[in-house]
Amino acid sequence: MEKELKEKLLKNSKTGWEEISEEQKEEIYAYAQGYMSFLNNSKTEREFIASAKKLADENGYKDISEYETLNPGDKVYYINREKSMYLAVIGNESMENGINIVGAHVDSPRLDLKPNPLYEDGGFAYLKTHYYGGIKKYQWTTIPLSLHGVIVKANGEKINVNIGEAESDPIFTITDLLPHLAQDQMEKKLREGINGEDLNLLVGSIPYSEKEGAKLNILKILNEKYGITEQDLVSSEFEIVPAFKARTLGLDGSMVAAYGQDDKICAYTSLTALMDVQNVSKTAVCILSDKEEIGSMGNTGMESHVFDYFISELLNKTGINRPNLLEKTFCFSKMLSADVDAGFDPIYASVSDTTNAGYLGKGMSINKYTGARGKSGASDANAEFVAYVRNIMEQNNIKYQVAELGKVDIGGGGTISYILANKGADVIDCGVPLLSMHAPYEVTSKYDVHSAYRTYKAFWQA
Ligand code: MN
Ligand code: MN
Repeated sequence: MEKELKEKLLKNSKTGWEEISEEQKEEIYAYAQGYMSFLNNSKTEREFIASAKKLADENGYKDISEYETLNPGDKVYYINREKSMYLAVIGNESMENGINIVGAHVDSPRLDLKPNPLYEDGGFAYLKTHYYGGIKKYQWTTIPLSLHGVIVKANGEKINVNIGEAESDPIFTITDLLPHLAQDQMEKKLREGINGEDLNLLVGSIPYSEKEGAKLNILKILNEKYGITEQDLVSSEFEIVPAFKARTLGLDGSMVAAYGQDDKICAYTSLTALMDVQNVSKTAVCILSDKEEIGSMGNTGMESHVFDYFISELLNKTGINRPNLLEKTFCFSKMLSADVDAGFDPIYASVSDTTNAGYLGKGMSINKYTGARGKSGASDANAEFVAYVRNIMEQNNIKYQVAELGKVDIGGGGTISYILANKGADVIDCGVPLLSMHAPYEVTSKYDVHSAYRTYKAFWQA
């Protein structure tokens, strides 16, 4: 009697693993394998967009400039400065009744090179960095790091660089003080233990000659390899990211450890879901945005008007555009803001409200609102839209949990959700819970990775 009542009235709090067959488990593990190999070739936003373009091309998508007109079923994309991308499958219904958007971001916290990075000191050659996004600086010392980016010469010639990923490549690192002499450092607050100005990448130690040091030797090597001079570095964009590979974590093989899962996990799952979507009633749009980690500003960030331009072009090429139709389209649209959530970590349980936390292995984490200190800055989804999304999850038998980032007044965060909500769309945050967010190695559950794929697909097909 009590058992029946509990089953009828209480929320199901089991993990997904307890509810699946061996066959489903194999499917989940196979999907995670594809995810991990994609990540290993896509550590920066430029690399992610290049991989996404390749996948889209293989699946019959075309650049919007190749279409004179667009018709239901057409698959189209627009790439914004190699760093962000918008994709769409044109629906059977007119876009003026609204479109269904899933939006993730492909940038992740990292170290960027300064414009004048190269110097030498004490016989070593170093590259100076400026960190990007919210990092705990001490986590970025004494780990293998790789160098990714582009150098654009004054004549426009572009050179792609990727050093430290292939087994035969050298890697780089940032040194830290030995404990024996770290008495003063250890007394400091954690945030001050490593100085931003001390995050200098060690890149060489052989002097060029008796008179000239390691800096000239490094420049000589760069010149031989890429034909560049020190001045060419001012028009380069380099990102330093962990050199380790995405790997299966745990004796049971249930988790993924990888760099940049915030938010490449939602970018990959939404992108692959879109590849499997056809014949939709509402136009399905996938956003892979840049610069989320530093506030979504700039022409590749979600605050820019490039996305509006893309949607306007869809309205133009489907032949329905007229004054103010873009605004109307947004006002009738629905969006899942696809970004990661803080997963409950028992070691740091004190920051979470355990009844409102997202747990690894329990499926999609839906955040009705984010923000900090009294929901400040949050896009708070309406109960009506939460019900709409919930219904999709329940109809498709996809496990989900509705959660908050952490305890009230402990901190907070934001995503791109408010940007589309400000345009008038119904938006809710909906992503994968993760441990060690923004660390060089982040942890997710393979069960949740697969749940994200199923969620985004179901949302577009609803
Ligand atoms: Mn994120
Ligand atoms: Mn983030």
